[in-house]
Amino acid sequence: MKPAQRLFVKTDLAIGSDVSLDANQAHYLANVLRLPMGAEVLVFNGRDGEWLATLSAIAKKGGTLTCVSQTRPQSNGSDLWLLFAPVKGDRTDYIVEKATELGVAGLVPVLTERTIVRKVNQERLTARCIEASEQCGRLSVPQVWDIAPLNGFYEETPDDGGIILFADEGGDAITIDQALASNSSKIAFLVGPEGGFTPAERTRLRACNHIIPVTLGPRILRADTAVYAGLALIQSAWGDMSR
Ligand code: SAH
Repeated sequence: MKPAQRLFVKTDLAIGSDVSLDANQAHYLANVLRLPMGAEVLVFNGRDGEWLATLSAIAKKGGTLTCVSQTRPQSNGSDLWLLFAPVKGDRTDYIVEKATELGVAGLVPVLTERTIVRKVNQERLTARCIEASEQCGRLSVPQVWDIAPLNGFYEETPDDGGIILFADEGGDAITIDQALASNSSKIAFLVGPEGGFTPAERTRLRACNHIIPVTLGPRILRADTAVYAGLALIQSAWGDMSR
């Protein structure tokens, strides 16, 4: 029977190795899931693949899982990043959660001229990524960077051949499929705030060789909808949703 729970842990994983649980993890396994001693849990750390482990000790302040066997070797998804202007309310949390489920390698909150939310709680967003990674079966947790200004992405022509697909609601752009014809090993998808990009930002973005404006169709999507639609199209055409 499939183990009840997957847990992201930081320690190295190998046969017989012990994994220390923090108080929250111990409480969740013992009191929320009410797992008995010896219960099986899947653990992953983003480096050593996924392991079957058994609950070998439990207490109020923590507990221990002992690794039994590797269930999946480590494999990382596409090198796909999301650059997004944070939006109001819990929509930013949903953007982070859904982008994790859609397989991004990392997320960068971006400050644009019309970004209303000027600060993000990196720790809280990272916790959301961990929860989503545990739930969706990924073997890694996306990196969440601190908020960064848009103009930091204009100049650099990444030496890793990366490109930025810039979701341009202003029209006159190619589709994601067409943009992905140019083979790239690393892609970032950029989505603007509720108020969109300013004309000056669009001009600057379009002037960069490594930034390609793309359309998401004839309708103006909410920023979060644009994130989900764009990531799905990219993963389907270039990433791991087509394998
Ligand atoms: N300026 C818009 C709102 C922006 S939508 C308005 O008139 O209300 C928020 C972001 O979603 C945009 O900045 C863009 O990055 C993306 N987006 C929304 N619809 C899009 C479309 N049809 N094509 C490309 N990007 C789109």
